[in-house]
Amino acid sequence: MTPAYTLPVAMLAGSAGLAVAVLALWFCLQNRRLRHEVAALRADRLVMESTIDNMAEALIVTDPELRLSRFNQRFADVTGFDVAFLGSRPHIDEVLRRWVGENALAEALLERSIHRARSREPFHHTFTHHGRSFEGKHVPLPGGGFVRTISDVTERHQTDALLRASEARLRRLLELAPVAIIVIARADARILLANRRAQELAGRSEAQMLHAHLHSLYSDEAELVRLRQAVERDGEVSAMETRFRRDGGEDYWALISAVQGEFGGQDVYIAAVADITARKLMEKRLEEAHAGLEAVNQRLREANAELAEAASTDQLTGLANRRHMEAAAARELTRAVRYRHPVSVVLFDVDWFKLVNDRLGHETGDRVLREVAARVLGQLRASDIVARWGGEEFLVLVPEAGILEAIALAEKLRRILSEGPFEGAGRQSASFGVAQFDGRETFSGLVGRADCALYRAKADGRNRVKWDLTIEQDRVQVDD
Ligand code: GH3
Ligand code: MG
Ligand code: MG
Repeated sequence: MTPAYTLPVAMLAGSAGLAVAVLALWFCLQNRRLRHEVAALRADRLVMESTIDNMAEALIVTDPELRLSRFNQRFADVTGFDVAFLGSRPHIDEVLRRWVGENALAEALLERSIHRARSREPFHHTFTHHGRSFEGKHVPLPGGGFVRTISDVTERHQTDALLRASEARLRRLLELAPVAIIVIARADARILLANRRAQELAGRSEAQMLHAHLHSLYSDEAELVRLRQAVERDGEVSAMETRFRRDGGEDYWALISAVQGEFGGQDVYIAAVADITARKLMEKRLEEAHAGLEAVNQRLREANAELAEAASTDQLTGLANRRHMEAAAARELTRAVRYRHPVSVVLFDVDWFKLVNDRLGHETGDRVLREVAARVLGQLRASDIVARWGGEEFLVLVPEAGILEAIALAEKLRRILSEGPFEGAGRQSASFGVAQFDGRETFSGLVGRADCALYRAKADGRNRVKWDLTIEQDRVQVDD
């Protein structure tokens, strides 16, 4: 039979077995996990070592005692140290000593290098070796020691140097340029360069101009805004007219061309400025001269027209004057002789006109004379010529008219003048004398005969028509 303790013992034995089994399983799992982690770490390390060996920079790592714990082939290449030496975990002091010794460098440099290697601050340093430029970067590690990488920056340095040289040449060129040139920072419109011509143009010294804001050169800031907008929009501006202000406050006109560019590592506008004040002044003077000339021309045209008018027109009535009438009559009489056509004259004189002047004033008298002219003009044919013969006396030359037609015309005119009051002067009248050209006489002879008839009309009581009595025989002659 089973002793009384066998059950608990068996139970104990049973649970211990279980515990061992669980423990074994746990260890087994832990083991597997660790194996995985180690494998992953190994893989990481391989990646890291491969990266270090193949990176473009030379690299060394030291342990906390500053012994070389790692280096890459590039470091051996750059320094010329043999791999056996580097692989022997040399102390950094020894590495530096060897470097200084092999390259015949100054002892002081060694001391400084050793001192810096112990530095717990990151730093950069540069050096040249066999004609190439290098940049070293020192980074302390958290647990002590450091990583140092060395990059070959020869190409970059050469590019930088080229850039600097080209920029120096550009600067020299801008300074020597025979036009005013200003270089302005794009960011804040401050002047970075103003050549001598620009200084002369602005009337300021270089010191006054450098770092000054471009708007200090402008007369109106809105113009600067206009320039900047145009350069920003199109990348450049060509020959924009703008007004600048000199130091003394005097404005001047300039032509400005600007391009966007780079200068001294900054985005800039490079602007060339030409003073066009003289040109502007010339343009203005030309414009003024042109306007003056135009005014003179206008006055000349008016004067010419006046002269032409004055030569042939009576100022008060606008009718032909005596001169014009005489010229026209000479032509008409010649025609009449050549073609044996009749031609007559009607001479009339306003009655009691002196009274109009005396009672109503000279201006009313003038108005009456103008109205007389207008009324008479309304009754004539296009071929008739009427002239103010003098004072209040008028003469009508009636081509192709014999004495009868001329008398009829005179009667018509008499009526038109005597019918209806004149403005401001009441009713008026005129007396008429008519004569027909006899084919031989002079014009003044003809007018003289008309004048005699007029005299009779006056003598007979005015406001009537009289004609020259000799006309009947002459008319027969002309009609032959
Ligand atoms: P009659 O009937 O005899 O012709 O009398 P009348 O008063 O018309 O003649 P008279 O020769 O005495 O006066 C003519 C006046 O006409 C005198 C002169 O001052 C005036 N007269 C002449 N020319 C002008 C003129 O251009 N404007 C004005 N307002 N008056 C004029
Ligand atoms: Mg008179
Ligand atoms: Mg009169």
